[in-house]
Amino acid sequence: MKRALIIEDNQDNMELITFILESYGFGTIRAWKGEEGYAAALEHRPDFIILDIQLPDIEGTEVLARLQDHPEGRTIPVIAMTSYAMAGDREKLLAAGCTGYIEKPIDPERVMSQIQAILEGHHENPDR
Ligand code: MN
Repeated sequence: MKRALIIEDNQDNMELITFILESYGFGTIRAWKGEEGYAAALEHRPDFIILDIQLPDIEGTEVLARLQDHPEGRTIPVIAMTSYAMAGDREKLLAAGCTGYIEKPIDPERVMSQIQAILEGHHENPDR
C-alpha cells in the first residue's frame, strides 16, 4: 500500500484529504504541525507528502527546505497546498523543490487526479 503523509493544521482539510486518499486505497499518516511533519517524514518514509504552507509552528516552506537538505528526505515527492494567490509564491515553492502544488480550497472532484498527475510526472515543475 502506498502511504501519504499529510501535514495540515486545518481539521476540515485534513479530514477531507484523508478521506479522499483512503478511499483511493492509500494509507495515511497525519501531522498537524511542521516540526512533527518533518520528523514523521523521516521516520515513516511515505511515498509522498501533502504539505500545507501555513502551519502553526514553522512554515511549510521551511519543512520543504529541511527535507531538501536531508539526503533521504529530499527523495520524497512533496505536493504543496497553497491558497496563496500570487503566482510568484508558487514559483518559489517549485524552486524550493516541491514536486507540484494544488490550490486551496481543495476540490474533492479533482484533487485525486491532480495528485496523480503530479506524481506521474505531468507536474508543474519541469526541473524534477
Ligand atoms: Mn494551514
